[in-house]
Amino acid sequence: MFLLGLNNPSRKAVSKLIVQKFGGTSLADLDCIEKVAERIRLRAQGGDRMVVVVSAMAGETDRLEALANRFCGEIPHREMDMLVATGEQVSASLLSMALKKKAVKSRAFLGHQIPIRTSEDLGEARIESIDPRELKEWIFSGGVAVVAGYQGVNARGEITTLGRGGSDLTAVALAGALDADLCEICTDVRGVYTADPRICSEARPIRKLCYDEMLELACLGAKVLQARSVQLAKRYQIPIYVRSSFEQHPGTTVTTEELGMEGTVVSAISCDRTEGKISIRNLSEDAEKTSSLFRALAEQDISVDVIVQDRSDSGKVNLTFTVPRLCFSKALETAQLCKEEDHSVEIKSHEKVTKVSAVGLGMRSHSGVAARIFGTLSREGIEVMAVSTSEIKICCVLDERYGELAVRALHEEFGLAKEPN
Ligand code: ASP
Ligand code: MG
Repeated sequence: MFLLGLNNPSRKAVSKLIVQKFGGTSLADLDCIEKVAERIRLRAQGGDRMVVVVSAMAGETDRLEALANRFCGEIPHREMDMLVATGEQVSASLLSMALKKKAVKSRAFLGHQIPIRTSEDLGEARIESIDPRELKEWIFSGGVAVVAGYQGVNARGEITTLGRGGSDLTAVALAGALDADLCEICTDVRGVYTADPRICSEARPIRKLCYDEMLELACLGAKVLQARSVQLAKRYQIPIYVRSSFEQHPGTTVTTEELGMEGTVVSAISCDRTEGKISIRNLSEDAEKTSSLFRALAEQDISVDVIVQDRSDSGKVNLTFTVPRLCFSKALETAQLCKEEDHSVEIKSHEKVTKVSAVGLGMRSHSGVAARIFGTLSREGIEVMAVSTSEIKICCVLDERYGELAVRALHEEFGLAKEPN
């Protein structure tokens, strides 16, 4: 990505340039918008240069998507992006009005007005470049810039959107383009937690995480940051601070790996309830069969996640994989095709599984983490259906009934309620 940066060291000594992003729940109604405006006013008064990125008001993007879906059939991407981008247009204009009412010099910007240029892909566009000149001119004249998140413009002049949760990406990319001191993600929770606090009452906000840990958590169901925004922040080394919009508690810093971070074996336990599992037994040992199955899934845009394959003594292959629940029936139908050609093939499906994962940089240098996870789950009588691992993650696929129990038991096992020293 090509970003035009500002490298003026003298600026940093004078005041800070902050990109602050507010999520939809913080902008849910006019009272909330007014409260956000007040926070921005105080911050700007303190001398910080502010670029504020906003999401659509809570529930608005879902509402707009549902309106379009009422027409059923093939939804035109161009019009869909044009429609859903209006959510952010509304909140940016309202917030800028609220700021003006408080006598704060403010201006609202849409993606194409900056411009934030993106790839052609409507609905899931990539940011290609940002021209920060107009924004800079505005904030260095003492104004607050309020930017509609989640949107950009492609080479054909079409309004594009950046995928769900894409305002985080807008904020991180702007922080990069403006060479900001910090990118703050202001949300309805106090930061990134050691586990979902609705499941585990002992969960607490984590002080510091490295990008890779955050990326794993974001891909494993933590909603607090969009995964692509974390990738971008990692690539451009932009520190992110996740904090509560209205409360004054310390939040979570997401940053490059630092010495000592490996000391914590497990940083968090995540829980993802969006997938289903399909197992195919007795497949003949023919690599072409497996590859044509995955090809058929890919052609329908079904992304496959945890994949476990083993070969039995009889030379047959057993294959287990997970897919998003939204495409579960399509995936199952595709898997059934394997049976048509060979009647000894058996298919078992489990639509409601939960992926419970332990994530921590310390796993790289500590052994015995898997032993503790399996020991804990077996003590609780929880069967593990499939496992996938990375250098810093162990992910277990479980029956949905046991998901919450597993999260609490693992949180306890790794002593996460207590702040590490
Ligand atoms: N409004 C969009 C969504 O709901 C983008 C965002 O909030 O970040 O996904
Ligand atoms: Mg979000």
